[in-house]
Amino acid sequence: MKPKITILGAGLSGLLIAYRLKQLNFPIQILEARERVGGRISTFISEDTPVEMGATWFGNQHTHLRALLAELKLPHFEQYMSGAAFYEPYATNPPQMVEIPSDAPSYRIQGGTSSLIHALAKDLSAEELQLNQSVISLNFENEKVSIQTNQQAFETAIVISTLPPALLVTNIQVKPPFEAAFIKIAKSTHTWMQDSIKVALVYATPFWKNRNLSGTIFSNVGPVTEFYDQSNVENTRFALCGFVDGNLIQIQKSERKKIILQHLVKMFGAEAYNYLSYEETIWAEEPFTKSELQNEVVIYPHQNNGNPIFSQSHFNHQFYLAGTETSPVHPGYMEGAVIAADNLISQLRNKFNC
Ligand SMILES: Cc1cc2nc3c(=O)[nH]c(=O)nc-3n(C[C@H](O)[C@H](O)[C@H](O)COP(=O)(O)OP(=O)(O)OC[C@H]3O[C@@H](n4cnc5c(N)ncnc54)[C@H](O)[C@@H]3O)c2cc1C
Repeated sequence: MKPKITILGAGLSGLLIAYRLKQLNFPIQILEARERVGGRISTFISEDTPVEMGATWFGNQHTHLRALLAELKLPHFEQYMSGAAFYEPYATNPPQMVEIPSDAPSYRIQGGTSSLIHALAKDLSAEELQLNQSVISLNFENEKVSIQTNQQAFETAIVISTLPPALLVTNIQVKPPFEAAFIKIAKSTHTWMQDSIKVALVYATPFWKNRNLSGTIFSNVGPVTEFYDQSNVENTRFALCGFVDGNLIQIQKSERKKIILQHLVKMFGAEAYNYLSYEETIWAEEPFTKSELQNEVVIYPHQNNGNPIFSQSHFNHQFYLAGTETSPVHPGYMEGAVIAADNLISQLRNKFNC
């Protein structure tokens, strides 16, 4: 009989591992702290328009992700970049209009990035996928693992954590403890995009496209730093979406929204005020993405991502890690999450000869 495997986290990596392990007939369970699946993939349906508050784009170089999308028969389309973009290099100069070369296209998943998440999760039973279960401790004893969440206790044979490593070692008490070297590296591993603020505005008409503008902004001045068209592939729902200065976490939502709109009006004109809805996600305020500890220390982007220490198993092969920050290739990105899952599945297939 195959051992029970419990996966911590129902983001892209955790759900893909669960999907593959089910194909291999392992008994599985996923414990997810949030009330939703997807982790850093989060598509809001706002005014019937899918807008991405987390992961959005991928490229031709992301071959593992592309292969997964093909396997799941999920179509993708090219990011709309036709027409001029605004480029604002200095606060002292007015924004410039530039044409963006389209030699390295980026793509979006039709219907929203969460379509990928839902395709992976759709055949999981309520027993297999448990939401609102924030894992707080793991106890490795007598070849069994006892898991305590905020709600209840579970028992399993093998645990796979797909949490960002900094969250794992900050929020989960592990007995016996991990080695000091592992804890030190995990604590100083950057969780990609943990400080970003993503904003989306839905509009009744694509006024930018009507004026031969792509909807793109690149600004070193802010508060909007990078913005793109986020209309649907059918071109029936219209939105602009992107990143704003992460320091805007320090002000109230109403003030933040006001200055973001002022910037959009400066670029696109008064029509930018006629939005149907405004959405935002402040990722640094998401306790299941950003570890509290990393509010106090300076971590540079991708620091320790893909460190070889993450590919080691612990506690006599009862504990493994996956998740995008552990991937040796493209860590931080959806591609990294898929590679980390694929690598782990290869390890388990070798171990269990299946
Ligand atoms: C704003 C933003 C924009 C991005 N844009 C892009 C992009 O355009 N392209 C791209 O390729 N990538 C992008 N990314 C990165 C991409 O989202 C990630 O690489 C990918 O989603 C990570 O998947 P994961 O499963 O490794 O981790 P996560 O999605 O972080 O999953 C970890 C899961 O663990 C859960 N969890 C945490 N603590 C506990 C606990 N104690 N108990 C149980 N569960 C727990 C979390 O809730 C979460 O569901 C972006 C990310 C953000 C935030």
